[in-house]
Amino acid sequence: MAFPITRLRRLRQSEQLRSMVRETRLSPHSLVYPMFVCPGEGVRKEVRSMPGVFNLSVDQAVKEAGEAHGLGVPAVILFGLPEKKDEVATGAWAEDGVVQQAARAIKREVRDLVIMGDVCLCEYMSHGHCGVVRAAHPQSLGAAVAAPPAAATEYEIVNDATLEILARTAVSLARAGVDVIAPSDMMDGRVGAIRKALDQAGLANTPILSYAAKFASGFYGPFREAADSAPQFGDRRSYQMDGANLREAMREIGLDIEEGADMIMVKPAMPYLDVIAAARERFDLPLAAYQVSGEYAMIEAAARNNWIDRERVMLEALQSIRRAGASIILTYYAKEAARLLG
Ligand SMILES: [Zn+2]
Repeated sequence: MAFPITRLRRLRQSEQLRSMVRETRLSPHSLVYPMFVCPGEGVRKEVRSMPGVFNLSVDQAVKEAGEAHGLGVPAVILFGLPEKKDEVATGAWAEDGVVQQAARAIKREVRDLVIMGDVCLCEYMSHGHCGVVRAAHPQSLGAAVAAPPAAATEYEIVNDATLEILARTAVSLARAGVDVIAPSDMMDGRVGAIRKALDQAGLANTPILSYAAKFASGFYGPFREAADSAPQFGDRRSYQMDGANLREAMREIGLDIEEGADMIMVKPAMPYLDVIAAARERFDLPLAAYQVSGEYAMIEAAARNNWIDRERVMLEALQSIRRAGASIILTYYAKEAARLLG
């Protein structure tokens, strides 16, 4: 029955009616707050390209985590800025690594907060890549590369050698009190390698949230400043996914599930809402999406120019991610959204 019998505006007449027929609801229960932990004490350094986001020393991270928890945010995800970087990512798996210290301190002070730990090596490698780098020339195979190779063809990111370091990192984080291990490196086979290492270490109850479909994206720009993790040469296209590929994203997710992922993630969120929707349709695991630094920075920049209504756009963006099918949203707006959604 069409117009004039049918008039969709009938149900839009008042906020009460609109609220009653609303299909998607945002709630603080679905939010995860990313935090960047750095060395030192009393450090709270704002990231230039991400106003309102800070590099925090452990004591400040504990405060921030407590604040998020108090607002009803159920989980944080920790990234680390180590004191020193090297070619074997020591800062990622060291017992006294900055994230390990933060996890222990937060566990002690903030009860019932879920601590997720990002597992990747780029923040801890001197070259800024997510895996082990090796010269591609046969005569120099085996030599770790410290200095930037002249051309992209002269180095490779070595998959299998990276798995061992990722697994070691995951075990170290879980032992420090991280509740959920979240590998974001995009090496093949990492979920299986991490699952096996956790199980062998007696950590069979630690779940894995895999960044299953992580696309090589320009939207990560501000994050690289926040985590000081920009690659010193080349780019990440040989391991992160091509943004053009939806079917391949489904394969990536399917493989991570076979390897033992407990939850899956699509990253970035807003430019890849169709991937989120397709993943929701196809897989039954809890589905997360990461509203990345560039998505955040665009909203902040436009709002600062008074070109958009900041709060309205923030909630609309989060709602779109929820509507696409993500039940968990990693967002720098977690605290603020939780306050507004109360
Ligand atoms: Zn990385």
